[in-house]
Amino acid sequence: MANLTGKVAVVTGGSRGIGASIAKGLGREGAKVVINYNHSHEKAQAVVEEIKALGGSALAMQADISEAEETKVFIEKVLGDFGKIDILVNNAGITRDRSFKKMSFDEWHKVIDTNLSSAFNTCKIALPAMLEQKYGRIINISSVIGQSGGFGQTNYASAKAGLIGFTKSLALETAKAGITVNAICPGFIATEMVSEMPENVREAIIAQVPMKKLGEPAEVAKGVLFLCESEYMTGQCLNLNGGLYML
Ligand code: NAP
Repeated sequence: MANLTGKVAVVTGGSRGIGASIAKGLGREGAKVVINYNHSHEKAQAVVEEIKALGGSALAMQADISEAEETKVFIEKVLGDFGKIDILVNNAGITRDRSFKKMSFDEWHKVIDTNLSSAFNTCKIALPAMLEQKYGRIINISSVIGQSGGFGQTNYASAKAGLIGFTKSLALETAKAGITVNAICPGFIATEMVSEMPENVREAIIAQVPMKKLGEPAEVAKGVLFLCESEYMTGQCLNLNGGLYML
């Protein structure tokens, strides 16, 4: 699909779910993949082994990307070890759903820091090297919820909508330098994030999706590979949502 031989890719939150699928897709296409995780060391290591079994190259690195200083150390280590970053997928994310009335300040800040500030934290350190090499692919995993809003999700919807604004603005600032910055807005994808929802909520969501099913993480990985290959697409949102929300 996309020949990524010789490219260095970083996937935040690559230990599980969508991030793991993205990491495997990039590895399959020949990229050297750095799989970031926060807590799931064994799962991240399993993804590394899967990529290696396919003949690819990967390693896992722990860092809490909601923390600016920790992220700086992480990205600088990747640049030190590999000499460059060609592809940066800002995928790590969490939910802390609660009605606005009940949402705590901690639930607000944790979700904003993990889903939005994390992209600032990684790009801040990775971008100068991309600008120097005049090449980069930055792909931010937003959400349909950032476009439509979500009940009990003022924190998550704000972070994901913010990520779209971040994507467009950074795309404008980097377009002349051979760097593309795009977002993917998945609908509801079959990962732990969705399986943790109460069954009745999940069933109600599926009933609303025109395709009447959840998406697979591999669909998001296909979108990432497309955005890696595309030369002329920047500042856009790729909507992979089974028809749930049509802009
Ligand atoms: P998931 O299965 O819950 O996995 C989340 C990943 O993010 C894990 O690898 C986790 O690492 C990592 N992570 C969380 N906090 C982190 C931190 N502070 N530092 C580093 N890594 C951290 O989630 P998912 O469903 O695959 O979602 C991936 C992305 O897609 C998220 O941004 C999510 O908002 C977005 N998205 C998901 C859906 C969906 O329906 N699933 C829909 C739209 C958008 P550990 O394993 O170490 O905890």
